[in-house]
Amino acid sequence: MAIDPNFDENREAVDEHDGHAVWGPVDEPDQLGIHGTHVAVDFDICLADGACLEDCPVDVFEWVDTPGHPESEIKADPVSEAQCIDCMLCVDVCPVDAIDVDASRSA
Ligand code: SF4
Repeated sequence: MAIDPNFDENREAVDEHDGHAVWGPVDEPDQLGIHGTHVAVDFDICLADGACLEDCPVDVFEWVDTPGHPESEIKADPVSEAQCIDCMLCVDVCPVDAIDVDASRSA
């Protein structure tokens, strides 16, 4: 299952984390929602492959600890989504399609 590219219409922004929105539903530690808006990572799909962290030319992502989550206990968090230059590398390299990038989207 890939991230829903229309999550901003289909979900509610329920929280804020490190300067970006969190789109629910959230029920920790099993369900963590989508982090970010311009650069969005579905934490419930992310399995901590790390290609996005390695390949992003402007270092948008940082690891965040998510102990107890069934897919992985760290996630690629888009902490610097405002720096994104829309190169789409992260979208292309993610093995589970957990990332969607859309500069026109707003929280
Ligand atoms: S689209 Fe490019 S610049 Fe933006 S977060 Fe992904 S890899 Fe980084």
